Amino acid sequence: MKKKMVMFLAILMMGILFVYSQPKAELQEFSGTLKFIGGNWFLSTGEDFLQLDIAPAEYFTENQLVLKKKLPIVVKGLLGDDDVILVYECTIGESTLVMRDDDGKPLWEVATAEKNYYVVESSKCIGCRLCVKNCPVGAISMQNGVAVIDADKCINCGICEKGDGKLFKGCPVSAIKQAE
Ligand code: SF4
Ligand code: SF4
Repeated sequence: MKKKMVMFLAILMMGILFVYSQPKAELQEFSGTLKFIGGNWFLSTGEDFLQLDIAPAEYFTENQLVLKKKLPIVVKGLLGDDDVILVYECTIGESTLVMRDDDGKPLWEVATAEKNYYVVESSKCIGCRLCVKNCPVGAISMQNGVAVIDADKCINCGICEKGDGKLFKGCPVSAIKQAE
C-alpha cells in the first residue's frame, strides 16, 4: 500500500513538472497600419490583412491611448489559423499598452470592473471638442483629434454624455457612455 502511494506521488510530481516545463507560446510581433471594418480592428502589414482580437476602446482611453484608422501600430500576440491575432500588447508611437497577462487573461476585464466612469468610443468621435469645453473638472482632452477622458479626474457627473440641462445637450454623436 505504501509502495503504491509512493508511486502515485512520483507520477503526480512528474505530471506537474511536465506541465510547468512546457514552453509558453512565443508571441510574434506584427507591424502595420490599423483599419476599422464592420466593427472590428484589422492590421494591414503590407503583405497580410489580419484581424485583431484586441482590448475594447475603453481600455485604450483609460490608458490615454486611442485607436484610429490608418494609425501605425506594432502588436505582439498569437496568430491563429483563422488569421486573427490574439493581441497581448501593442505599441503606438512611444507608448506600449499591455492588455493580457502571460496566460492570455484580459487585463481590461479587471480594470473596467473596478471603475465606474465615462469613456469615449473613439471610432464615433468627430472631434468637435464640445465635451472638452463642458466637462466641469477638465477631465477630457483631445488626443490625435479624438476626445479622451481621464478616469482619475472624472467625477461621473454624466454631463459629457447627457448634457448640463441648459445649452449643452451632450455629445452630438453619442460617442460617450458610462463604462460597464
Ligand atoms: S462631444 Fe462627442 S464628438 Fe465631440 S469631441 Fe466630445 S466625444 Fe468627440
Ligand atoms: S462624466 Fe462629468 S466629469 Fe466625467 S468626463 Fe464627463 S463631464 Fe467630465
